Amino acid sequence: MSKKTSNTQRQVTWVIILIFLIITTTIGGFFWIKYELDKKNNNNNNGNQGEIEKEKAREVKRVELISKAGVLVSGYFYEEAIELLKSDSDIYNDKMKGEVKKIEDFVADLQPYTGRIEQVFFHSLIVYPQLAFGPTSAEPQGYNYWMTTELEFQRMLPLLMERGYVLVHIGDLYDVDAQGNVTEKELYLPEGKRPLLISIDNVGYPESRKKDGFASKLILDDKGEVTAVIRNLEGVEVVSRTGEVFPIVDDFVKANPEFSYRGAKGMVGITGSWGVMGYDPKIASEAAEAKKIANRMRETGWQFVSHSYTHAAGKYFSETSTLEGVKEDTELFKKWIVPIIGDSNVFIAPFGVTVKGDLYQYFIDEGYSFYLNVDRRSQPKILGKSVLMPRINLDGFVMNRDKAYITEHFFDVDKVYDSRRPVFQ
Ligand SMILES: [Zn+2]
Repeated sequence: MSKKTSNTQRQVTWVIILIFLIITTTIGGFFWIKYELDKKNNNNNNGNQGEIEKEKAREVKRVELISKAGVLVSGYFYEEAIELLKSDSDIYNDKMKGEVKKIEDFVADLQPYTGRIEQVFFHSLIVYPQLAFGPTSAEPQGYNYWMTTELEFQRMLPLLMERGYVLVHIGDLYDVDAQGNVTEKELYLPEGKRPLLISIDNVGYPESRKKDGFASKLILDDKGEVTAVIRNLEGVEVVSRTGEVFPIVDDFVKANPEFSYRGAKGMVGITGSWGVMGYDPKIASEAAEAKKIANRMRETGWQFVSHSYTHAAGKYFSETSTLEGVKEDTELFKKWIVPIIGDSNVFIAPFGVTVKGDLYQYFIDEGYSFYLNVDRRSQPKILGKSVLMPRINLDGFVMNRDKAYITEHFFDVDKVYDSRRPVFQ
């Protein structure tokens, strides 16, 4: 083999090795780059996927908050709704800002209410007309006049709501300062809405009522909600959410938050000598039970007010009331009932009697800034350091004797009136 041949062969070998190296490097590099790129892409995809999931979760939270804020707005809790929408910075975006703006604009447009102030009142509901108007009833005529049946009450609520009525507290309409001066307060309601005060008188359950188809007492159920106990047609005591005004209103407001201004329900008028919601204030264990119920009801928008201790005529509440009589009554109420239901600045006059002069002043001096009587046409009047407030009884008497007025101002009586009532005389 010549030297030249040998050199040429070596060169060829080197070229082959070189080409081989170039090829393997290129292929290896290609795969390495591809591997790295794939890795990167994968990471990116995983990252995007994670971000998408997080955003989905945020959006779910947003929808939830917006819906909760909507319920608050229907119940006139505007500030609270805005606070809720702003409560989580992690989800606060343009959409949430838009929701806040909608509420702020809505609130800015509200005007103070200037129309009539209506107050209606009820007694305990007749749940079984068969008993209330039947042969064993203690006073079928009285019940037909002054009572409302459960059916009528259930029919009234949606009709009152249709007319724009919204339950409010007296405190939403008036301010009382430390010196006892009372002034009107501006109430901002959406257009078409108007305030309604309701009170329920004589919330105690004497034996005669228990057997006549009315509730026997109020209790708290296992969810802590106030519920009625009632003796049914078979004489068996059953628990019923439709046995009395309170659970019916609670459930109605839960379903229709726009019927209650910031959770307001009504006034519970306690008559001392009738007991407190079915409990004897002079028996310690019963008083304690009644206090528990009253506390819970206050939390759910009810206010407890005085409807006197004796609920008696003569020297107490009549044309011949005396200062000594009303003093004795008020002191008994403060001794036995106030420790259970707490202090109140509202007095519901028995029989709607408006005591005069010194006697009226006595109630003001005792801290009763609001004196409630019965009058179907008048409007509240500020008298010295008090407001004299008229109320309308939505019962058999008024639905018969003042049907046109009730239909004009509250609801179509024909849509409410219970045909199980005896003929009105
Ligand atoms: Zn009464």
